[in-house]
Amino acid sequence: MQETVDVVVIGGGQAGLAAGYHLRRAGLDFVVLDGQDSPGGAWQHTWDSLHLFSPAAYSSLPGRLMPPQPGETYPDAAHVVGYLTDYEQRYDLPVHRPVRVEAVHRDGPFLRVEADAGTWRARAVISATGTWARPFVPAVAGRTEFRGAQLHTVEYQRPADFAGQKVIVVGGGNSGAQIAADLAHGSDLTWVTLREPRYLADDIDGRALFDAATARRRALDEGRADTGGVASLGDIVAVPPVRAVRDAGLLKAQPMFTRLTPTGVAWADGMTAEADAIIWCTGFRPALAHLAPLGLRGPQGHIPTAGTQALGEPRLHLLGYGDWTGPASATLIGVGRPARDAARAIADLLR
Ligand code: FAD
Repeated sequence: MQETVDVVVIGGGQAGLAAGYHLRRAGLDFVVLDGQDSPGGAWQHTWDSLHLFSPAAYSSLPGRLMPPQPGETYPDAAHVVGYLTDYEQRYDLPVHRPVRVEAVHRDGPFLRVEADAGTWRARAVISATGTWARPFVPAVAGRTEFRGAQLHTVEYQRPADFAGQKVIVVGGGNSGAQIAADLAHGSDLTWVTLREPRYLADDIDGRALFDAATARRRALDEGRADTGGVASLGDIVAVPPVRAVRDAGLLKAQPMFTRLTPTGVAWADGMTAEADAIIWCTGFRPALAHLAPLGLRGPQGHIPTAGTQALGEPRLHLLGYGDWTGPASATLIGVGRPARDAARAIADLLR
């Protein structure tokens, strides 16, 4: 099967849907190809207790406010999945799933998108494949020696799976703090962070992160000094469950260890800790393998962009991967603006 369209959007999570919304408004002919069996992107695979760090109204895609979740200021992941499911139906977005894109090639005036379910020829491509598919674990000495379980954030589900066990949680971001808080009561927890945990003030939440990212974008757009963006505020949103465990004195962070041993971890000063399991909450990398044939990779594995547009291939836009593809673009509320900019740029290019 081979189909020709104006635009192929690769990935049907929140970024792909926001792109679809704006492509529709721009009057372009497009398809969204998503590797999942059902709607919701990465939100289908988070741990049970995960709640957003912003209220529903501040977690909305373009065109439609996320409705509040009854009884919850901060909606849970299932609520987000429901919202995204409704969003793609409401706007009748042409999402094909499960369709896994394997490679994108230049093909004369087209980009050829090769997937397990067929081939599409597109005049432009928006890649919106997120980061969840590429968990990152740092290279730490002894990783293969440790005889216990090692898992990444993406594999963690619930504290009951570790009841009574000695667990080491690695990572000082939101995932590390939330999973450590989840485990603090039922497990023998050691929380390890690269540097002293930096909490945002208790009275601010994800809204402040979005405001900081927006202020930074404005400052840079207007040629003013860099305000530092979200990094200037802290690393951890003190959501209620994290705050409760921290205030109970159960979230004391240890510095990063230097190696794994067969039974746990060891620090440079000779201190050791035993562990049944180590949970690596050490982040993600952008899932860009399907773009390898275009030969666009720059330093740090990123593809150099101006806004969302790839510098080496103007028909390709990258959406939702992080601040490098638009300020706060890896959040629900932040992806709308770069999605609009990408759709407009493509409409101009194809005109
Ligand atoms: P994804 O949701 O990962 O969607 C990408 C889609 O593309 C997936 O369906 C995937 O299967 C598909 N795909 C990947 N590769 C291919 C391929 N080759 N072919 C076809 N399909 C493919 N944001 C907020 O706004 N508020 C929060 O409170 C918040 N909390 C977060 C908590 C955690 C623990 C994490 C990890 C993130 C959080 N985020 C939050 C950030 C962000 O909203 C999510 O990471 C979001 O899921 C990113 O959306 P996306 O559409 O870019 O990627």
